[in-house]
Amino acid sequence: MMSKYDVLIVGGGHGGAQAAIALRQAEFEGSIAIFSNEEFYPYERPPLSKEYFAGEKSFERILIRPESFWQERDIEIHLNNRVTKIDANLHTIETTNGEHFGFGQLIWATGGAARWLSCPGAQLAGIHVVRNRDDVDAILAKLDEVHNITIIGGGYIGLESAAVLRRLDKNITIIEAQDRLLSRVAGMEISEFYLQQHKEHGVDIRLNTQVEAIDGEVAVTGVKLSNGDIIPSDMVLVGIGIVPSINALRDAGAICANGVDVDALCRTSLPDIFAIGDCASHANKYAAGAVIRLESVQNANDMASAVAKTIAGTESPYDAVPWFWSNQYDLRLQTVGITSDYDATVLRGNPDDKSFSLVYLRQGKVIALDCVNATKDYVQGRKLVLNGEKIDPTLLADSNIQLKEMQIG
Ligand SMILES: Cc1cc2nc3c(=O)[nH]c(=O)nc-3n(C[C@H](O)[C@H](O)[C@H](O)COP(=O)(O)OP(=O)(O)OC[C@H]3O[C@@H](n4cnc5c(N)ncnc54)[C@H](O)[C@@H]3O)c2cc1C
Repeated sequence: MMSKYDVLIVGGGHGGAQAAIALRQAEFEGSIAIFSNEEFYPYERPPLSKEYFAGEKSFERILIRPESFWQERDIEIHLNNRVTKIDANLHTIETTNGEHFGFGQLIWATGGAARWLSCPGAQLAGIHVVRNRDDVDAILAKLDEVHNITIIGGGYIGLESAAVLRRLDKNITIIEAQDRLLSRVAGMEISEFYLQQHKEHGVDIRLNTQVEAIDGEVAVTGVKLSNGDIIPSDMVLVGIGIVPSINALRDAGAICANGVDVDALCRTSLPDIFAIGDCASHANKYAAGAVIRLESVQNANDMASAVAKTIAGTESPYDAVPWFWSNQYDLRLQTVGITSDYDATVLRGNPDDKSFSLVYLRQGKVIALDCVNATKDYVQGRKLVLNGEKIDPTLLADSNIQLKEMQIG
């Protein structure tokens, strides 16, 4: 007979794990199963480009919960079992193993797959992405043999990887198509600061540069650029974003555009099917109601907790304040709010001191802060973002005055 779960969670990453944890915290007593296509119990992804990559944390230390936790809470985990099909009417799923399972409610928490290169040579050996444990283990296994590493993409994952690899004394080149680093997620002052920091650590950064081809016979030997330069490379890391993993949901009839569309309760257009985390497009009040996908642990966890509460009987719209962090060298960046659609920025402090913040404003209201080694600003700025406070930019720029002294509400 086909097994049926009251709540079936697809994806054992941050969102999937947190949904199960939060359901039990909300005293949900029904049956819960997590299906994961990975062979590992749920683990934290951020250390993959930080402490785990650098060898500072073992895999056991990045597990979201010890293995025993899941059994103790009566949460079944099906590893190595990808969900390939959903029948929304029958409330069933099919997996790669050819098995079928029924569900009362389904939570789709599949994140995304690392976007791969599309240029000639993209299938050569020695090209890697940094998305899951297997990816990083594959890089680590080859690291002793390689010296020249080219990183394609100047976003957070590329920059964090560069910082780790420089500490291991690898020669690093970063290729970025835009005219600045972090162009999608941060203001100019932050981009310039990180450009400077990476240059000081010996990273060769090529902005405004496209990759034309990856050179090599079987394995990569170089990266050919749009300006004709060839960067000798023994390894290539690709950090150019993700493609949301939503095929089965789309095939089942869920409305999808850039990810799966969800409403304020994280419900998809299909009955009894929720979607959370990196794959879920939602209208975010901190982005002035724009429909966006957020790729952060905060978003995955908070969506998971909201859905768990709803399933457990208390309807809980998702409206948490977004936050994010990134560690590179001795720099801890903490972001609160959404750094898009700003019309002005204010710098607090001096980037030369390696401790400063960039405040993002829209129509005079504080909508986000990027804080570099400035945890006080980050903590105090959260309230300004939460309340959408209007504050005189000259006051904001005065780093001798604490942000908490500027709160009106
Ligand atoms: C290297 C790296 C560093 C990061 N650093 C930070 C950081 O510093 N701060 C921060 O806030 N965020 C960071 N992030 C982003 C953060 O990890 C993600 O936003 C978060 O993991 C999203 O959670 P999720 O549950 O939506 O997806 P994931 O955690 O990606 O989990 C999805 C899981 O579902 C599995 N899956 C996919 N399809 C199927 C299927 N059909 N059937 C079964 N299983 C499936 C996937 O293999 C994966 O295990 C980082 C991400 C990476 C990769």
